[in-house]
Amino acid sequence: MNTTQSEALFAKAQELIPGGVNSPVRAFRSVGGTPRFIERGEGACIWDADGNRYIDYVLSWGPLVLGHAHPKVVAALQNALTRGTSYGAPTALETELAELVIDTVPSIEMIRFVNSGTEATMSALRLARAFTGREMIIKMAGCYHGHADMLLVQAGSGVATLGLPDSPGVPASTTAKTLTVEFNDLEGIQVLFEEHPNEIAAVIVEPIAANMGFVLPQEGYLQGIQSLCRQYGTLFILDEVMTGFRVAPGGAQAAWNLDPDITCLGKVIGGGLPVGAYAGKREIMKMVAPSGSMYQAGTLSGNPLAMTAGLATIHALLEPNVFETMAKSTTTLIEGIQAAADSVNLPIQVGCAGSMFGFYFLKEKGTFINDYAVAKRYAHTERYAKFFHAMLEAGVYLAPSQFEAGFMSSVHSEEIIQQTIQTASRVMKQLTA
Ligand SMILES: *Cc1c(COP(=O)(O)O)cnc(C)c1O
Repeated sequence: MNTTQSEALFAKAQELIPGGVNSPVRAFRSVGGTPRFIERGEGACIWDADGNRYIDYVLSWGPLVLGHAHPKVVAALQNALTRGTSYGAPTALETELAELVIDTVPSIEMIRFVNSGTEATMSALRLARAFTGREMIIKMAGCYHGHADMLLVQAGSGVATLGLPDSPGVPASTTAKTLTVEFNDLEGIQVLFEEHPNEIAAVIVEPIAANMGFVLPQEGYLQGIQSLCRQYGTLFILDEVMTGFRVAPGGAQAAWNLDPDITCLGKVIGGGLPVGAYAGKREIMKMVAPSGSMYQAGTLSGNPLAMTAGLATIHALLEPNVFETMAKSTTTLIEGIQAAADSVNLPIQVGCAGSMFGFYFLKEKGTFINDYAVAKRYAHTERYAKFFHAMLEAGVYLAPSQFEAGFMSSVHSEEIIQQTIQTASRVMKQLTA
């Protein structure tokens, strides 16, 4: 595979942009090699600057649930663009997307749009602290909620990949009120509540820990967090930035019957444009300025292009059978990967939910990754790196890190999925030869 152009572009980018990228995981640090510079995407595929084609399972890290340049999204955006890009004044589009999200996600009664998932979680926590008059928060090790200071404690995603325990530049005073406990450790949360019964403003959790690979919640875990929150007057914040419109159209909360006080959204609801949102019970959301006293604002928040892309994407996703077909494709793919690994005796742990999936190569057979500590110990990152590069060479673009999830789109055809499975099977044979 010729990658001359990507290499040249990367060399220049590294002179001008830290690490050559605008978000760390893009740089391939955990798998090595040169990141591909992408020129164009269409449907299930992307093409790099050297003209190589890849079947894409990153999909901009989740937002592109309809694949690249979906005709309906492109048409809606072209139409919106001719009317200008932003006014800094309210538009009907914002209410339209608000209504659509509220109708689809069970717990949400009011919503505020922001520009990223980071802003969503940051604002949600400010709101929880304002609403409860408390300062402490609980987060789970390996859960990633964006890069706000107070949340860069045992964070997953790029932080997991780069192996940074924390980030310099984050004052100890901003993380002093952030308590952490392993994912799936309900007892650990209970202990923290008992130690600080009147001090915890919120528990924030990813319903699937999908920024440290792909770890499903154990039966009763999320429900247990919800009950503890109710018991202690603490707000339950479900970070559905990734799982929203992915695990089910109504998110993990719809699939698993949860009732969070505040939900964070992003990714899919922007249809590939920069968006985030925090949303929840009317009583709580009414505290946000200007209806209430908790300040939060944004020059480009709710801008017409992002709203348009979000609306077109969600409408298409909610059409009959679209979600179900995509979920079935995800199961087919992950079962195929499992079978390929089994046939050459490579220990692997796979998982999927709706249109998200993940798999870990394991250092030892019989281990099960249930939290971040175990993921760091038993995930075979070297094997993943080899697998990743062989897949890339063969035209399949997976996340350039063992600690990230994969995504399916509605336009990944049966043929493309079978082709992916065959490629994975061939690559795993090579790895074990
Ligand atoms: C991606 C992600 C974020 C951060 O969103 P950005 O738009 O990258 O700021 C927050 N929480 C979760 C669960 C995410 O997956």
